[in-house]
Amino acid sequence: MAPSYQKSKDLFEESQLFIPGGVNSPVRAFKSVGTNPPFIAKANGARMWDVDGNEYIDYVCSWGPLILGHRHPAVIHAIQRCLERGTTYGAPTDLELTLAQMIVEALPSVEMVRMVNSGTEATMSALRLARAYTGRNKIVKFEGCYHGHHDSLLIKAGSGLLTHGVPTSPGVPDNIAGNTINARYNDLELLEQIFNEVGSDIAAVIVEPVAGNMGVVPPTKDFLSGLRNLCTKHGALLIFDEVITGFRVSYGGAQSYYNVMPDLTCLGKIIGGGLPVGAYGGRKEIMQLVSPAGPVYQAGTLSGNPLAMSAGIATLEQLQQPGVYEELDRKSALLAQGLSQAARAAGVPVSFNRVQSLQSGFFTKHPVNDFASASTSDTNRYAVFFRSMLDQGIYLAPSQFEAAFVSLAHTDSDIERTVEAAYTAYKMAAQ
Ligand code: PLP
Repeated sequence: MAPSYQKSKDLFEESQLFIPGGVNSPVRAFKSVGTNPPFIAKANGARMWDVDGNEYIDYVCSWGPLILGHRHPAVIHAIQRCLERGTTYGAPTDLELTLAQMIVEALPSVEMVRMVNSGTEATMSALRLARAYTGRNKIVKFEGCYHGHHDSLLIKAGSGLLTHGVPTSPGVPDNIAGNTINARYNDLELLEQIFNEVGSDIAAVIVEPVAGNMGVVPPTKDFLSGLRNLCTKHGALLIFDEVITGFRVSYGGAQSYYNVMPDLTCLGKIIGGGLPVGAYGGRKEIMQLVSPAGPVYQAGTLSGNPLAMSAGIATLEQLQQPGVYEELDRKSALLAQGLSQAARAAGVPVSFNRVQSLQSGFFTKHPVNDFASASTSDTNRYAVFFRSMLDQGIYLAPSQFEAAFVSLAHTDSDIERTVEAAYTAYKMAAQ
């Protein structure tokens, strides 16, 4: 029997009267998969329950922060302990120092770090800092990478290769878009051409070292080191947006995993353990420009707030346990292998990409290594697959172009159940 989503449906209808589109972040509206979102009532470990009582195995994990799963006891305990002493003081605490030290110890390129409240704030602030440090204005980003919703980065490619970017949203001024250049992920040749043309104006290249926002797209072998070399040669800063990959692909982030050092790193998600957080950091010489040590202004009422710091510290402590990343990798591989076999058996072409506990199955027969190849995916098929999975109690990202996140809370039997459901869902998508 198909599950009932009636209570969620009613809440969604009412929410649309009071909240634009009924949600506080667009992807939650499930528009691209042609259904309504379940409203979630509670969660534990790898499971979530909606207001109609439907149970799900969750592979969204709040879009990445919950690498330990929902309500990990150590995280809940840390938040409770902190709560007993207050919620926010707008004054420094030792928790901020502890988390900053943990981040500096973990990420080889980071000597100093500033806490903010979201990944968007982190990338926005890192760009300002890079512009101040270099005295240049232009930014290079890669098509298909997402770095948050501030003006400089809501930009797609213009018509010509080297034309300036055009806004992906009304309300972004043309003169801001004109300072952002779009390059192609995994295409060093194009980037070199861009540098040869306007290199002396480029303040920074910002990149997701493993792309997670066009679905998961790993960097090709020489891509990140090539970026490093080009930035160094032309005096631009290299910014790794590790909002997803930080503490995810390894404890030391993608920079340790691939052994390529950026000048600045942006963080979010996992370092807040499920509470709102972001951070940016890098070499002392650059970070010392940030106010009040230096002239580059950046501030925040709730930045470094004790609850988020406590949740982040508790999460990172768990991730320091031996064998954690091996276990995440093993589970994620089990899922990817199972899904890929299920897709083959169901006769539907799916191209799988995986880096550690991040993975995507693209409904295309082509290998996916950039935005253009990701765009060959059949999103209608994904929608059919997604809805069938949801009805079978498997909660995936409601878009083809997002990652599946495996957490430490997923058990082997969760993964087996997921693969069984996937076979049925792939069969439906194959029709
Ligand atoms: N950077 C990356 C790589 C992201 O995936 C995201 C959000 O998903 C952001 C930045 C923006 O973070 P936030 O949603 O916390 O503003």
